[in-house]
Amino acid sequence: MVLRIVILGAPGSGKGTQAKRISEKYDIRHISTGDIFRSHVQRSTDLGKKITESMTNGRLVPDEVTCEVVWRRLRESDCEVGYILDGFPRTLPQAHHLQEWLVRHDEQLDVALELEVPDAEILERTGARRSCATCGKIFNLKYDPPGSVPYCERADCPSSLIQRADDVEETLRERLRIYHSMFEPIHALYKRLDLLKTVEGAGLAPDDVFAKIDEVLLGIGAARSA
Ligand code: AMP
Repeated sequence: MVLRIVILGAPGSGKGTQAKRISEKYDIRHISTGDIFRSHVQRSTDLGKKITESMTNGRLVPDEVTCEVVWRRLRESDCEVGYILDGFPRTLPQAHHLQEWLVRHDEQLDVALELEVPDAEILERTGARRSCATCGKIFNLKYDPPGSVPYCERADCPSSLIQRADDVEETLRERLRIYHSMFEPIHALYKRLDLLKTVEGAGLAPDDVFAKIDEVLLGIGAARSA
C-alpha cells in the first residue's frame, strides 16, 4: 500500500521518533529535511556551505532551496513505495508548493498527522534531557535520576552530563512560539483539504502514541481498500 504522509508536531513532541517507526512498519521512506540539511553541512557540499549559517543560527533555510531538495528526493525511485515527510512543510508557501508538486505528479497525500503535546509537557520533558558529554547518549533526569542508573554504559566514559543549547528552557520556549505561529496556517490548510488527523500525545509513552497513529493509518488503509 503506497502511503504519503506529512507529520506535523512541535520540537520535542516526538515527531522524529514516530516518523521513523511509521516508515519502518509501513515500509515507506522517512524524509527529514533537517537530516538532509545536516548531512550536507557535515559533508561540506555546495549546498551545505550555503545553509551552514542558517542552520547554526536556528533560522529557516529559504523556501526555494528547501523545496528543491525535497523535490529531488521525492523524484528518487525508492519513494515510489510512499514516504513520510518530517520537518516539511514548515511554512505556508512550502505547503502550497507541495500541493502543486503533488498535483503535477499525479500524486496525493493520504494524511497530515499532527502530534499534539502540550507545551508544558514538552518543556518538562525536554528541560530534563541531558546528554553524556563524551558519547552523546541521552538521559532524562526525570526517569533516570542521578544515582539510580549507571549514566553511561561505556566503562571508559567520564559521564559528565550536559544540556544541549536548544534544550535550554528559554530557547525552547522561543522555538515553540515560532512553531505555533508558523504552523497555524498550515494546520488550517490541511484541515480545509480534509487531510488533518490529530493524535493526542499528552502523558503517553512513545509506544502508546504509536498505537494511536497506527489506528489512524489502518483506518485510512481500510477506507481506501473498501
Ligand atoms: P530540524 O532537525 O527539523 O529541527 O531542522 C534543523 C534545521 O534545518 C532547522 O532549524 C532549519 O534551519 C533547517 N530546516 C529543516 N527543515 C526545514 C524546512 N522545511 N524549511 C526551512 N528550513 C528547514
